Amino acid sequence: MRRLRNVKIVATLGPASDTYEMIETLHKAGADVFRLNMSHGSHEEIREKHRIIREVEENLGSTIGILADLQGPKLRVGVFAGDSEQLDPGSRFRLDLDEAEGDASRVNLPHPEIFQALEPGSTLLVDDGKIRLKVRDCGDDFADCEVVIGGIISNRKGVNVPDVVLPLAALSDKDRADLEFVCDLGVDWLALSFVQRPEDVAEARDLARGRAAILSKIEKPSAVTRFDDILEASDGIMVARGDLGVELPVQNVPPIQKRLVRKCRMAGKPVIVATQMLESMIESPMPTRAEVSDVATAIYEGADAVMLSAESAAGSYPVQAVQTMNNVATEVELDPTYTQIIESSRIADRETVADAIVAAAREIAETTEIKAICCFTQSGTTAVLTARERPRVPIIALTPDVRTARRLALSWGTNCVITPPLDRFKLAVVAAVKAARAEGFAQAKDQIVVTAGVPFNVPGTTNILRVAPCDEKLIFASDPE
Ligand code: PGA
Ligand code: MN
Repeated sequence: MRRLRNVKIVATLGPASDTYEMIETLHKAGADVFRLNMSHGSHEEIREKHRIIREVEENLGSTIGILADLQGPKLRVGVFAGDSEQLDPGSRFRLDLDEAEGDASRVNLPHPEIFQALEPGSTLLVDDGKIRLKVRDCGDDFADCEVVIGGIISNRKGVNVPDVVLPLAALSDKDRADLEFVCDLGVDWLALSFVQRPEDVAEARDLARGRAAILSKIEKPSAVTRFDDILEASDGIMVARGDLGVELPVQNVPPIQKRLVRKCRMAGKPVIVATQMLESMIESPMPTRAEVSDVATAIYEGADAVMLSAESAAGSYPVQAVQTMNNVATEVELDPTYTQIIESSRIADRETVADAIVAAAREIAETTEIKAICCFTQSGTTAVLTARERPRVPIIALTPDVRTARRLALSWGTNCVITPPLDRFKLAVVAAVKAARAEGFAQAKDQIVVTAGVPFNVPGTTNILRVAPCDEKLIFASDPE
């Protein structure tokens, strides 16, 4: 589906958005990638959402990315008999290993290792730190806490223990089962929660066996410290500000966001800025000015994608939330200051032939009246490199591999078109022209830039650049090959 913006929108699906009609509406409103949160919902529910997304994709002739977000070694409370409870400051609340449904006095915390690591005086933060508990007494299977900051606690909310080091593996048994399930189902991206080391990424990559690209969520202080190695090991990054702002002081999050986005852009790997972007829209059809500014800031920084969590998964205004992001993105990208910022932070390092070709494509497009850059890409690498250049004209990524197209749904500015496998460059040029015209990027009188690797079907061979007229007769007249 053609968008009038380059930054991508990721929308998390949940109870507020699990019907065919809603998923179709969200995609039409601007959601390019849907996030399936493995912390919520059974495999059957995940399978059904996946099925619906693929059906919408097929019916609209569109390309939609699916990102499965593994829970990771995140501590979460169990469920409540009434789904949620109000905790008042000063009252007592117990966490224990009892699997029975919770009430206002207690709830299950199914992590034996945490009870062993806690001490009286330890702080527990619930729901991204909204609720603060202090441990008064604890044993091997319980912790009696005082509610320091109260609020509403609901099913499976996250728990952070910032002042205790917990010996947790990168992938829990649940994560391994979920990973196998979603890879079998066919998702495009796997997001890893609470990555601490590059080895965590390598472990998931081994298990995924090429079935999905790997995105590391940066939400632990150790992931920030080891970011360069984690980025190297990953295909993409999420700045997961929710947990990051709990594990570290909140004021540390904006500079980290800026640094991480910049490094991802240099590496040419997609980066998502996530969490609380339009938080008030869970309950209100209008965002706050500060939220609008936050979405805009991420876009000005050059993020590939901005993300909705509860706003689209559980809020009352999922469609309005996507529309808001879409509107903010469109407006920011029209701002000459945006172009200036993006272009002044463009990466000057060129190491390979492919780097040089995509840079040349962008320069030609900018110095002449070129309407689009069309790149033929097997694995998606050339498209990602082209996106890294942040050209002013649209990028059309042509690929015979639907999985590549779906992965690229996360990358800045890429419009994907599936082509039949090609073996001659001239046919590729014709396919590019057809795609550019069919999608409304160019007309017969226009010209486009086409890049490809010849011979075809060998990944990583981008070595050819052609300025092509969009009139098929002219292509055949001017091209002897
Ligand atoms: P979560 O990750 O929503 O799975 O916790 C995002 C974040 O922590 O910001
Ligand atoms: Mn998180």
